[in-house]
Amino acid sequence: MTDKTIFSRIIDGELPGTFVYQDDVVVAIRDLKPAAPVHVLVIPRKPIPSLQHLDENDVELAGRMLLAASRIAEQEGLEDGYRLIVNTGPNGGQTVPHLHLHILGGRKMTERMVP
Ligand code: AMP
Repeated sequence: MTDKTIFSRIIDGELPGTFVYQDDVVVAIRDLKPAAPVHVLVIPRKPIPSLQHLDENDVELAGRMLLAASRIAEQEGLEDGYRLIVNTGPNGGQTVPHLHLHILGGRKMTERMVP
C-alpha cells in the first residue's frame, strides 16, 4: 500500500504517463481521458492536495504552474486559445487530491461555465 497520489506515482515513474513537459517544480502529462483534442495536466512535484491548501510558501510554485501552462499551450500549438481549469474540492469536482491545472484546447470551448 502507498498513500502517494496517482500523480506522485506517475512523477516517480511507478505508473505510466505521457510527459509533455518537466522542470524542477512541475511536470505535465496528457490526461488519460481527454475532454478535448489537447488535454494536458500541469502538476507540481510537491503533492499539494488542492488549491485550498496553497499557502504563502507556494507563491512561486503557483506562478511556475501558470508559466508552464502558457509554455505548454504554445508548444501544443494552441495559438487560438485554450481553457485552464482547476477543479477544487468535492463541489469543484476534483477527483485526484493532488493540485493540477487542466489545459484544454484544440477545439472551441462552447460550454460557458460563467455568465
Ligand atoms: P480532477 O477531476 O480535476 O481531479 O482531474 C483528474 C484528472 O486526472 C481527470 O481528468 C482524469 O482523467 C485524469 N487522470 C486520472 N488518472 C490518470 C492517469 N493515470 N494518467 C493521466 N490522467 C489521469
